[in-house]
Amino acid sequence: MDLGIHGRKAIVCAASKGLGFACAMALAREGVSLVITGRNAEALEAAAAKIRSETGVSVRAAAGDITSPEGRATALDLCPAPDILINNAGGPPPGDFREFTDAMWHDALNANMLSPIAMIKAVIDPMIAQNFGRIVNITSGSVKSPIANIGLSNGARTGLTGFVAGLARQVARHNVTINNLLPGPFNTDRLRVTVAKAAEAAGRTADEMIAARAKENPAGRVGEPEEFGAACAFLCSNRSGYIVGQNLLLDGGGFNSTM
Ligand code: NAP
Repeated sequence: MDLGIHGRKAIVCAASKGLGFACAMALAREGVSLVITGRNAEALEAAAAKIRSETGVSVRAAAGDITSPEGRATALDLCPAPDILINNAGGPPPGDFREFTDAMWHDALNANMLSPIAMIKAVIDPMIAQNFGRIVNITSGSVKSPIANIGLSNGARTGLTGFVAGLARQVARHNVTINNLLPGPFNTDRLRVTVAKAAEAAGRTADEMIAARAKENPAGRVGEPEEFGAACAFLCSNRSGYIVGQNLLLDGGGFNSTM
């Protein structure tokens, strides 16, 4: 299927590896030129080079922390009016909520709620003016089904989800869509970090924990980032204008429900 976005411009936040990188690569394969972000400039440039060499599209690296005004400005300076925005950032640390300080809550809310909202605010009016825009927020399956040891993520991301639910319906008539992609377990470094504590407590390695989770999943495995990128590219296509304010769970069927 031709997604109809060849020649479009995208900012993909937090994209030097993992799910953000996979989204960037999937968009680049559709002919979308990119600005990608990440804090580690060297890793980001390597990611940009990989996407360029595989797809031939223009990929510019905006090194910086997307949760800071300066980091966002660096990306927006390179691409002030993107057609597509993928919001992403690292997830907050796991732990017992009794140990979460106010500063940790502020960081989580800033990274996983306020920063994506700031990016949306910066790009949405030009999208409305041109009658095309696609915004995808990478959130988490924890929005739908809370995960006990990542309360910071459960809380902050649900705040973003509530905000987006309202805004998406205000901009849809301008062919600007906002949707959320909710990863279940995906084969990235972040997955290793989130299972590390539980693995330690159980006297197992992170890989053993991940293998156990894979076995329990209806699909019998964890997800591959490329699968996530493909779903993201579809939500950014010119065929997806009637998908508005949705929360698409990609978890191999791990969330057990009838609908
Ligand atoms: P990952 O493999 O650890 O990759 C994270 C990427 O984000 C890296 O490129 C990292 O580069 C960049 N990044 C992190 N913080 C950043 C910041 N403040 N500013 C700019 N770039 C930043 O993680 P992932 O698995 O792709 O996860 C992506 C998101 O999905 C996270 O929010 C995660 O919590 C969520 N999630 C993942 C899973 C899973 O199973 N993988 C499940 C549920 C939710 P630098 O470190 O160089 O900045």
